[in-house]
Amino acid sequence: MIGRSILQSALALVALAAGPLRAFDTVIIDAGHGGSDRGGIPRQRIPEDEWTLKTALRLSAEIKQRGFTVVMTRTSDEDVSLAQRCRIANSRRDAIFVSVHYDAYRREAADGITAYYASSRSEKLARSINSRMVSALRPSTNRGAKRARFYVIRNTLCPAVLVECGFLTNKAESKRIQTSEYQDSLAKAIADGVTDYRKYRTGR
Ligand SMILES: [Zn+2]
Repeated sequence: MIGRSILQSALALVALAAGPLRAFDTVIIDAGHGGSDRGGIPRQRIPEDEWTLKTALRLSAEIKQRGFTVVMTRTSDEDVSLAQRCRIANSRRDAIFVSVHYDAYRREAADGITAYYASSRSEKLARSINSRMVSALRPSTNRGAKRARFYVIRNTLCPAVLVECGFLTNKAESKRIQTSEYQDSLAKAIADGVTDYRKYRTGR
């Protein structure tokens, strides 16, 4: 038999995971990889971890301008474990989690952007960000908002999204990614998606 208090805390955890539909004021921004983990695929020329940090820092400035509190999982080239990233996210109340990544594939032709979510609780957030990214960046391929089981979006309790902001292994796309125009539009687009999602949550 399950003790009443265990059952109650289990129910409380389920309620927390489901998340009441109310406003959030904190955005946890996770720059993928870093330190000894360069990200990407072997022999990739443009290091993923450098670009995730650049984008995350820009995004942080953009998000703060809109009145949110920002918590970064890293702000320099350092090792932060996946478990630690989730602990940082799970220590905040009324938050959402945005993990920034760039894609890579051994076939150079692969391109496009994707927003991943792990459960239905995070689907709306992923769709909001994906649609803003598509209209602002006009990528050759929209890979859409998709369900996936990446560690950081599976082990965070708040709504969580992992965005793949383009392929660093695609010549044309990586060239665009490395321009300040692209970085600027990208940061604004993700922030717009977050703002849209807050409107959806608060009904305003
Ligand atoms: Zn990555």
